[in-house]
Amino acid sequence: MDRRQFNRWLRASAYGLAMSPWMVPARAQTPAERNWKTAPFQLGVASGSPRHDSVVIWTRLLVDDADRQASDSDAVSGRFEVYADEALRRPVTRGEWRTDASRGHSVHVIVSGLTPARTYWYRFLCGDAVSTVGSTQTAPAPEADVSRLRLALASCQHYEHGTYVAHRDLAKQDLDLVVFVGDYIYESSNPRNRVRAHRGPEPKTLAEYRDHYAQYKSDPDLQAAHAAHPWLLMWDDHEVVNDYANQTDAAYTDPAVFLARRAAAYQAYFEHQPLRLGPDPASPYKASMRLHHRLPWGRLADLWTLDCRQYRDPQACADPVKGGGRVVLQCAELGQPQRSMLGAEQEKWLYQGLQQSRRQWKLLAQSTLMGSSRVETPMGKTTYTDGWDGYPMARRRLMDCIADNQISDVVTLGGDVHMNVAGLLRQEPNDKNFPVIASEFVTTSISSRGRSESLISAVRTSNPDLLHARTDERGYTLCEFTPKQCLTEFRTTPSPAGTSDTLRVQARYLVETGCPGPQPA
Ligand code: FE
Ligand code: CA
Repeated sequence: MDRRQFNRWLRASAYGLAMSPWMVPARAQTPAERNWKTAPFQLGVASGSPRHDSVVIWTRLLVDDADRQASDSDAVSGRFEVYADEALRRPVTRGEWRTDASRGHSVHVIVSGLTPARTYWYRFLCGDAVSTVGSTQTAPAPEADVSRLRLALASCQHYEHGTYVAHRDLAKQDLDLVVFVGDYIYESSNPRNRVRAHRGPEPKTLAEYRDHYAQYKSDPDLQAAHAAHPWLLMWDDHEVVNDYANQTDAAYTDPAVFLARRAAAYQAYFEHQPLRLGPDPASPYKASMRLHHRLPWGRLADLWTLDCRQYRDPQACADPVKGGGRVVLQCAELGQPQRSMLGAEQEKWLYQGLQQSRRQWKLLAQSTLMGSSRVETPMGKTTYTDGWDGYPMARRRLMDCIADNQISDVVTLGGDVHMNVAGLLRQEPNDKNFPVIASEFVTTSISSRGRSESLISAVRTSNPDLLHARTDERGYTLCEFTPKQCLTEFRTTPSPAGTSDTLRVQARYLVETGCPGPQPA
């Protein structure tokens, strides 16, 4: 098509309709006027939160002091382009975006009017600057017959503990989706054995969280993983602070003060991820942000992302001086029926959705190990109170919902515990009086250090439902779902200290439809 045809086509296409509600009109220069002294697209590009007809594309501009223009209130505008081919010859849509310092110069564009199950390429332009090109994919139509869902499950990427060779490997895979289940950043630093260092202090303010994300996002392997695939994201605790629960942190900070920190952390999280929704402006301190969703993948799967942090009850039997999770032997509070990991509303929404789902696979992507990791000791069984073991009645409600309604082909996908797990799920963990009703896979950390081998061997011995539990290697997990089976592959490296490390297959497991429980493949 020639230039005139192209312009006519553009006017007729979805031009302008793709503006995100998160973009406010601002006084801005026309894009062509900007000559950047420092390249603004240093944090790369990303896409995510796909639906069958739309996807979010993201970037965040770093605006150097030398590029800051007093006249324009730090507002910047530019363009985005979406193509049907990698060579960028077949345009699909394009449009304008505006951003400013109040959102950290982040750009979120919801590109709509797209075709289901299609790959697209996109880039951002601003003055004389052009971003790298990302590729993304829409979900299949909700009622389409789909032959596969191939995803990478990842979590826990402490920047100091290792390089992101796992992301480099993941970027090269043929995937429909990356599902990241939490600990995208770590707020804390530990100088012991670190491979590289956080450059700032522990973040507490919005500016500090932004700097922290900017450092993580500067990693070329992480950028490659974002540029290669759409991501679906869930957070855990370290995106704010270790072991926080709802309005409480482990230091028992005054909730008003803590909620202000949580608001800063949530805002920064939104600014750095390809998300549809940011913090709820009507919530106190703008400290609430909805992240739990259900994504239908044709008729093949319903994929839930579940928020295990924002709405949970505080950890049971917490130490009155230093709160958060800990290992306890006796704790009556654990048995209180109303205690919840997801919060009452999210639980209700999930149970309704599970009962209504007519799709083959019911996939629950959530932060942590669903099965038990309690350890037998001469004094009794230990319980780690931050995980699902610390919310046993809530776990039982979820398992009862699956069992009572005979919901088949449920697979939980988790992270957080820095080990690969393939496990069996029953109404009561490890109790052979209850049948296996669902399957569990947990991915090891991308880079965060593993647990002690002696602890994990005790966990294995005490919990026969954990068929596979290894904490010694870092990496991610490939999961391929088809109408007949789910095949998972733990891809790992012993220690990602060097950027030349490569991943290998630690183990493969298979789940057949209608037959819950992984088996070695
Ligand atoms: Fe972690
Ligand atoms: Ca965690």
